Amino acid sequence: MTRPILPGATLGMLGSGQLGRMFAIAARRLGYRVHVLSPDTNTPTGQVADLEICADYHDLDRVAEFARSVDVVSFEFENVPAETTEICQRYCPVRPAGSVLFTSQNRLREKTFLRDAGLPVTPFVAVRSVEDLTTALQQQGTPAVLKTADWGYDGKGQVVVRSVADAGAAWSTLNVPQAILEKFIDFECELSVVAARGLDGEFVSYGPMGNSHSHHILDISICPAVIPAAVAAEAIAISRAVLEKLDVVGVMCVEFFLTKSGQLLINETAPRPHNSGHLTIDAHVTCQFEQQVRAICGLPLGSSELRSPSAMANLLGDVWEGGEPDWVAALKHSNLKLHLYGKQEARAGRKMGHLTVLADQVQAAEQIVRAARTTLKRGSNIGNDVG
Ligand code: AMP
Repeated sequence: MTRPILPGATLGMLGSGQLGRMFAIAARRLGYRVHVLSPDTNTPTGQVADLEICADYHDLDRVAEFARSVDVVSFEFENVPAETTEICQRYCPVRPAGSVLFTSQNRLREKTFLRDAGLPVTPFVAVRSVEDLTTALQQQGTPAVLKTADWGYDGKGQVVVRSVADAGAAWSTLNVPQAILEKFIDFECELSVVAARGLDGEFVSYGPMGNSHSHHILDISICPAVIPAAVAAEAIAISRAVLEKLDVVGVMCVEFFLTKSGQLLINETAPRPHNSGHLTIDAHVTCQFEQQVRAICGLPLGSSELRSPSAMANLLGDVWEGGEPDWVAALKHSNLKLHLYGKQEARAGRKMGHLTVLADQVQAAEQIVRAARTTLKRGSNIGNDVG
């Protein structure tokens, strides 16, 4: 039996963004030390970690040194190179395993794995040339969504193709050797399940959360999603199957489209905590980041019970457009929680923080969190009340 990694041990994180930061905060609360490795300094994670190592993921000597200094390694974004996790695995456990990362970080591998496992995914075909694309468009019909196989997130590296005649332009826009063409889904809504799986197979889940996107970036998440109970149960059952088939030890998010005819289709998975799970920090008994710590350390998982309906609004750099946001105005709502990630520069589209609101009804929570975010923006708060 594998022994649990107990408080006092050192946890290693590859990647230094906000997900690593919230992981490190949860880990330190539980009495662990945290070392983070990424190519940057003064990072959201580094600011709260015990040790920030600035090194390229391909600098395998530094990566090995990092892995030797910790008891377990996890990652906070998908684009960590496979060779980096392979090196770490020589010195300590990597959880989830590098093989999970390898499958998830390429849309073609991910979707093929899920489809072959009998799970419902958005219909797709592999595309490696403009000829492939033309044939796929003729067979699949338009509109369709062309996505890069590698390095895609938050809608980056994707283009909607409206007619077969647009194949050439779409292929040159992406300019990659490998892509997938997906059927365009005229969905009813987007949902996600964040789930955790322990070393012994224990499973807990959050949600489904109901998600709205703006410019392909998550904008608002609500929990619980306003959907029939049977759909919620099915989304959780599918998510459980995904984590089990991939043998995930850690946290994983499964994102779905719910079609107008009530069918659930997996859009993508992420083998780490997810933006749509940020509201678990304030709304659930155990948050997704604490579950990540518990799961990778081989500890029992915590209760994922929802304490209160809640809504989360992302704060992108755009909120800073008119100057420093009006924090005082937003915080006048006593059920509002402010989370900022310590990023130095606010750029349009950059995730800088989020707000969470708890309320008796999920619709009320969403209304308040949207209003509070509007109040933050200088020059746009006249007549707005945070409710
Ligand atoms: P992704 O980066 O693949 O998660 O895509 C970002 C967002 O683009 C999704 O959350 C959807 O809002 C939209 N999108 C992606 N793929 C499709 C699709 N096949 N049909 C309709 N909308 C899509």
